[in-house]
Amino acid sequence: MEETQDKKKLTASFVRKKTLQTTLQQVSQQMYARNKELADTNRMLSLLRTIAAISMESQSGIKQICQEITDAVVESTGYPLIGLFTQPSSHRDEIALYGISTKSWQGKTSTIEFARPPHLKTQSEWFTTGEIYEAIELKGHSAAKIAELLDCTKHEVKVFLDQLPIKSVYVVKLVVRQRVVGLLVAGFLDSVDTIAESDKHLLDRLGGSIGVALDNKLLFEENQHVVHQLQKTNQKLKALDETKDEFISMASHQLRTPLTSVKGYVSMVLEGDAGELNDMQKKLLEQSFASSQRMVYLIADLLNLSRLRTGKFVIEAKPTNLADVIESEVNQLKISAAGRNLTLDYKKPDNFPEIMLDETKIRQVIMNFADNAIYYTPSGGSIDIKLKQTKDSVEFTVNDNGIGIPPEEQRHLFNKFYRAKNAQKARPDGTGLGLFMAKKVIIAQGGAVVFKSVENKGSTFGFTFSKQKLKVPDHLQPKPKTTT
Ligand code: ADP
Repeated sequence: MEETQDKKKLTASFVRKKTLQTTLQQVSQQMYARNKELADTNRMLSLLRTIAAISMESQSGIKQICQEITDAVVESTGYPLIGLFTQPSSHRDEIALYGISTKSWQGKTSTIEFARPPHLKTQSEWFTTGEIYEAIELKGHSAAKIAELLDCTKHEVKVFLDQLPIKSVYVVKLVVRQRVVGLLVAGFLDSVDTIAESDKHLLDRLGGSIGVALDNKLLFEENQHVVHQLQKTNQKLKALDETKDEFISMASHQLRTPLTSVKGYVSMVLEGDAGELNDMQKKLLEQSFASSQRMVYLIADLLNLSRLRTGKFVIEAKPTNLADVIESEVNQLKISAAGRNLTLDYKKPDNFPEIMLDETKIRQVIMNFADNAIYYTPSGGSIDIKLKQTKDSVEFTVNDNGIGIPPEEQRHLFNKFYRAKNAQKARPDGTGLGLFMAKKVIIAQGGAVVFKSVENKGSTFGFTFSKQKLKVPDHLQPKPKTTT
């Protein structure tokens, strides 16, 4: 009886032990699986980090980056082959093999050299159909077929397959923002059905971040490409601009000489050197003298404009008596003002001090402001020219009661070629260069522009200069007259 009881106890303890053992085995298996899973996840995370770092930090081009990525994937996963196809930025309809890495195989390290990178037409069926992003049994395809698909030679495929006995490939289409940016190809040594789900999962995950990395790099390269194109176009435009500047400068120089002699001869005839003139002849010649003078200024504007662009615009200051300069310009303009039935007033100030100015250029500014006033003031109007000084500054202004400038257009004034609408009607042949150049000349000599205008009431244009800034240095001061 006792014996049977002992037997029962023994059997029960044996069963408990067995159950315990099985449970322990199960738990350790589960732990092993969990550990493997964790190790895989860690491996994948570290690989994803490496890929992100390659794409963010690498200064290299897309080709180099693809190679760095395939190297990193082979090293981390141990797959026999990883290839990466992507689109060069200049060829949107093709993808080419930009990175390929292989694991050393049976003691040999395989380096696959292609005569030129194999590439696929993105329109090709193989690329667009679903077939491309799943497992493909290579056994079924002849070297000739693979060569055709990859657009490389049969020999290259043969060398490749001899070196690495790849039997199947798993291809992941890299799609970012609904655009295929490349293909990730992993080669396996066994047939398609032995590719593990975990491998497929890993490759799919990798495909996501490799796609983003490639997309970023491709966008960057595309931007660089566009910037490069723009730079090239810009260079061409610059060269064209230079040719145009050279032409303007040459043409202006060439025009200046005959114009000077036209002006000279007209002036001689006006002064009676060719005999006495009747009133009509005098009037006509005065008009042509005034026009040739305007042309001289226009040519000077063009020359200064091209000098500005070529950096040859320089101010050559010398002691200048503004009061005298203005007087001589006003005298020249009297004829055209009278011809348009305008009064032109200038009261020359006495004892005006000399200041350091570029006389030719400031003369042109004065002429320009006064000439504008004449043209933009209707018949019967008046123009008042003033030169004033305070303790610290000198101020020149031309005031008219002409058409004025519409308020919304005033801020564009002094821009190159800008002409207000009302002025275009009043004087269709203007250039819009005078004010632009005038401002440059005034600013270049440290002065400030004076401007105010009320549409249909009149305008004031002028400049101010600080006396201190433009003071004539002692060695250029006129020598005191010696009495004998
Ligand atoms: P242009 O007189 O050849 O058009 P400017 O550069 O000398 O070129 O002048 C630019 C523009 O400024 C003129 O077209 C005109 O709209 C305006 N402007 C200049 N001076 C006057 C003025 N005294 N009265 C009205 N508008 C003027």
